[in-house]
Amino acid sequence: MKATFPHLGNVYLGVKALFDGLGIDYVIPPQNSDHALNIGTRHSPDEICLPFKIMIGNYMQAVEEGADTVILTGSCGPCRFGEYCELQMNLMKSLGYDLKFIVLDMPKDIGIKELFNRLSIIGSSSKKSRLQKLRAVKTAVQIMHLLDETEALAHYLAGYERNKGQCKSLFHRCRREAMKCSDPQEMLSLIKEYKKRIEYVPVDINKDPVKIAIIGEIYTVIEPYSNFCIEDKLMDYGVSTKRGMTPSWWLKNMALSPLKINSLDIKKASRKYLSLEIGGHARECIGEAILSWKEGFDGAIQIYPLGCMPEIVSKSILPAISRDYDFPIMSLVVDDMTGEAGFITRLEAFIDLLERRRDNVLFGS
Ligand code: SF4
Repeated sequence: MKATFPHLGNVYLGVKALFDGLGIDYVIPPQNSDHALNIGTRHSPDEICLPFKIMIGNYMQAVEEGADTVILTGSCGPCRFGEYCELQMNLMKSLGYDLKFIVLDMPKDIGIKELFNRLSIIGSSSKKSRLQKLRAVKTAVQIMHLLDETEALAHYLAGYERNKGQCKSLFHRCRREAMKCSDPQEMLSLIKEYKKRIEYVPVDINKDPVKIAIIGEIYTVIEPYSNFCIEDKLMDYGVSTKRGMTPSWWLKNMALSPLKINSLDIKKASRKYLSLEIGGHARECIGEAILSWKEGFDGAIQIYPLGCMPEIVSKSILPAISRDYDFPIMSLVVDDMTGEAGFITRLEAFIDLLERRRDNVLFGS
């Protein structure tokens, strides 16, 4: 087996550590780019959402490098994601690719036994002992957590740093160097080291930067290519950001969902506006908007792909939250036709609005 997987933010580093630890042959697709999107768009159904198209681009590029098995997460939820694996399998087959798919669905949807069956297919390609396999999984999960924490720290401290660009440059260097590690333990130590370096970045605690929460559809908030690297841009503008949707959040949420004790704060916060699970992460989007208001953020930006069904529902609810809490929320839609210039103009206008609101409070005008 030569495994591959679609890109999603920093997940490739966690998966790299896992496969290195398991001794499984793998291909990391080239980083997302216009090329990957163009390939995906050419072969995908027109109306399908952006993540699907980019993922198809990832598979095709990985196959060129010898991949024969795609490992992806799934969901039997009501939005299109529930059909992604089926559609992608059929699409790749109809294009003449002989690819095997291993879909890791939520245990609540396929049952814990079936999930273990699917995991054992991956595990059987590894010649490591059971203990070594468990260690490899544990280290990969630790790496994913640590990466998310380090990234969140860099995004937040960017608003306070004395030397502009230091947090961003340290985090990018961390990712580049982590990619060169072939030993998962080495990668773990390296990320710990970078986290410490970011913690000690000189900051001005008297600064009071604009603070923005990034909410919305999980793929487009996590994957920088799909959102024109919005978090990097906000770091450049000296804005502090936070994002609740991370790969490690997803893992924890999936693990706790059979016990129904997952994301309790989000469920509680969103109950008044959206009490049902409608697919995707609409409920999380609503809950996070309210939680970020409670945490003192100045505003929130919702990002979602054109035609994303769950996020269209949350978009229709967000104005009520904005009105009830006097909390500005901007929605940005992305697809293969979205132009970066218009995206940046809206982003800058939103930051401007948040700064002016602060000035109005300060000077009472
Ligand atoms: S959540 Fe939205 S973007 Fe993601 S698969 Fe569902 S419809 Fe598509």
